[in-house]
Amino acid sequence: MTPVCPFVKAARPDDASSKKLGESPNKHGSENEGKAKKESSDSASVSPKCPFGYDSGTFKLGPLSCMICQALLFDCAKCIPCSHVYCKVCISRFKDCPLCGADIEKTEADTDLQSVVDRFIEGHARIKRSNTDADKDAGGDTKIVYEDVSLERGAFLVQQAMRAFRAQNVESAKSRLRLCVDDIRGQIEIMGNTSELCSQLGAVLGTLGDCCRATGDASSAIDYFEESVEFLTKLPTDNLEITHTLSVSLNKIGDLKYYAGDMEAARSFYSRSLNVRRDAMQHHPNVPSQTLDVAVSLAKVADVDRSIGNEDAAAAGFQEAIKLLKSLTLKPEEVGLEQRVRFSMQFLWLNLFLFYGS
Ligand SMILES: [Zn+2]
Ligand SMILES: [Zn+2]
Repeated sequence: MTPVCPFVKAARPDDASSKKLGESPNKHGSENEGKAKKESSDSASVSPKCPFGYDSGTFKLGPLSCMICQALLFDCAKCIPCSHVYCKVCISRFKDCPLCGADIEKTEADTDLQSVVDRFIEGHARIKRSNTDADKDAGGDTKIVYEDVSLERGAFLVQQAMRAFRAQNVESAKSRLRLCVDDIRGQIEIMGNTSELCSQLGAVLGTLGDCCRATGDASSAIDYFEESVEFLTKLPTDNLEITHTLSVSLNKIGDLKYYAGDMEAARSFYSRSLNVRRDAMQHHPNVPSQTLDVAVSLAKVADVDRSIGNEDAAAAGFQEAIKLLKSLTLKPEEVGLEQRVRFSMQFLWLNLFLFYGS
């Protein structure tokens, strides 16, 4: 899975360059900090800092974090005899305590500490204190405003989930992402299906699908991807990021059906993805990555066509994809894209060759 913060607009699930976006300092965090700095110089107000580093967007490891996965503790377990605490899944891979080196005789659930962590997530992360008046004036009243910052909480939860996922603590990742989904659903109930909320929900559901797929739970993965598709389909199709995310979710369902041997279903999802991408290409004819997306989708549909005996359709699909890629003129700075195009071209020629060779 490529970690993506759905709250960072530039993020694309299949784009390797977005890897860093899930991590701090992300765009979100730096924007907030920049804003806070500007405000503090403009109006002499002070940007509040959470002792755990929550507000700053650069979450610090502290007593509520696991040193192994570097995320907030999940299902935490205390090592006996040294008493150091980690997520149960994380420490289960060690024989010696990573912090002090002591032999681990056994681990015990630390439910008290876990409930502190859960309360931290529930309460503390939900609200942000913002001082409206300068509190430097001696004796001056400091007015504190509590406001809803669900989006910041969402970005925070996704960041925690990505850390846990990278450390292969998938249950921890899923738990944080589910909270995030609940939050966004709550927001949608209040504000309706705004495109921002729907695209966030679509992206977080897609990430939950990736988590399930990583643990081999294909049917839950499909459920999440389908829900993701459902929300992304509600959005206007003029935004390339949204259509890309939608088409990727459709392809992921197609892949899971493909590997399960259900070729008809795979073809249907690949075709839907192809249609979304063709539409997007029509609206944005001069975006090379969009053209490449269409070529990749054509190849996926053609591949299934070949395996179910639709040979003419398959050959036509591969040929159309090659023609599209040939039509691309890339700028010198699009080196990464050029490599992908060259790789796709080789794949397509190989397929055509296999086709007529057999
Ligand atoms: Zn951990
Ligand atoms: Zn220890």
